[in-house]
Amino acid sequence: MRYKRVAAVAAAATLTLGLSACGGDSDDAGTGAGNKDFAAGSTMERLNTAQKIKVGTKFDQPGFGQKGLSGKPEGFDVEIAKLIVKELGIPEDKIEYVETPSKVREDVIVNGTVDLVAATYTINDKRKERIAFAGPYYEAGQNIMVRKDEAAITGPDSFSDGTKKVCSVTGSTPAEEIKKYVKDVATQLVLFDTYDKCRDALKGKQVDAVTTDNVILLGYIAKDEASFKMAGDNFTKEPYGIGVKKEDTDFRDFINDTLDKAFEDGSWKKAWDETAGKFGATLGDPPAVNRY
Ligand code: GLU
Repeated sequence: MRYKRVAAVAAAATLTLGLSACGGDSDDAGTGAGNKDFAAGSTMERLNTAQKIKVGTKFDQPGFGQKGLSGKPEGFDVEIAKLIVKELGIPEDKIEYVETPSKVREDVIVNGTVDLVAATYTINDKRKERIAFAGPYYEAGQNIMVRKDEAAITGPDSFSDGTKKVCSVTGSTPAEEIKKYVKDVATQLVLFDTYDKCRDALKGKQVDAVTTDNVILLGYIAKDEASFKMAGDNFTKEPYGIGVKKEDTDFRDFINDTLDKAFEDGSWKKAWDETAGKFGATLGDPPAVNRY
């Protein structure tokens, strides 16, 4: 057993040297110690050999991806990413987290700034023109958060009289959807790059509501129940996927296999229970991954 491990490490070291000699990413040289068998030339092999990975996620969303005292983001998206990283044979402490606000998600995947994005990322056809999605691994729905004393906003239709201001995030699906309900986009819709800015604007009374996925809002409410509440029911379906490069079908399949395994062996539910599950949202049954 011990001999085998040493032999495997030696073989991986040889492979790494071979790669560097061929002009591979010099940053990876010397750290290589592949410990799993993946198809030659695959993203899985590249990452396993490098023994490190860049994960794009949110830093401001309690329960999904929020940077806390540990200095690393914590939440359901982060836990899902960790399950994938583990399956790649890479230690958790070799994950480099890159803050990935809604608007830049496709860009960082296309540019290769990150290896995958796990960031409350709704699967849709428009995004699929530039990137690909594994999953879904959860289904959220758009909702509205208001101040605790708000009585006039009860759902998206409450914006039709043109008086109430609603905040959302540039490049998000809720920011697009709410345009169908407001009377005047220019005066009623306020856009920031991250949701914590919307939350602060709501608390400071610069806006009357924040709209995005229910689970993101539930995280903010859980952290400040004295200030905020939900207004009404979900009015869209937001299936969350893992974003990868459009052409990387093997990596997408690998992530889908990993998600299916996590649905089966309880690690998906455990990840939820320890994170967003604490904030009152329901997990439901595992969604069927879409292997398109
Ligand atoms: N799930 C929605 C989206 O992907 C909203 C949440 C977010 O902006 O991350 O646009």
